[in-house]
Amino acid sequence: MKMPHQKRRRGQIDEFRELALERVTLLFDQAEKIFAKNSELADRYVRAAWRLKTRYNLRLPRDIRLKFCRKCLCYWKPGITCRVRVKSRTIIITCLRCGRVKRLPYGSKRGSEGNLGALGKSVNTACDQKLED
Ligand SMILES: [Zn+2]
Repeated sequence: MKMPHQKRRRGQIDEFRELALERVTLLFDQAEKIFAKNSELADRYVRAAWRLKTRYNLRLPRDIRLKFCRKCLCYWKPGITCRVRVKSRTIIITCLRCGRVKRLPYGSKRGSEGNLGALGKSVNTACDQKLED
């Protein structure tokens, strides 16, 4: 038997999702901060954020999507848990834990330059760290 559920209480669902997305953003902020001290805890934050994402069917902002591996759910820190290469108009991120490769176009399409912008900061940090060694 089918129940007619055509009238969804959209307003309430949207509110939940908004709150969930806020929490996901916070979790990634915390993961970023804690990573240097405790990378396992950072991964736990990523998994908690991922559970929220799947439960509420959230669409994650691009800068968050570039911060973790979808396959093994580890936090991506360029130079430590992932490797970032920029080849002509493509950013290639390789997860150093599970080997997953993510390719992102940038520069050619409108709005896609943000891919590098979101990564730029952390890539620079990784380079700085290498220079200090
Ligand atoms: Zn991975």
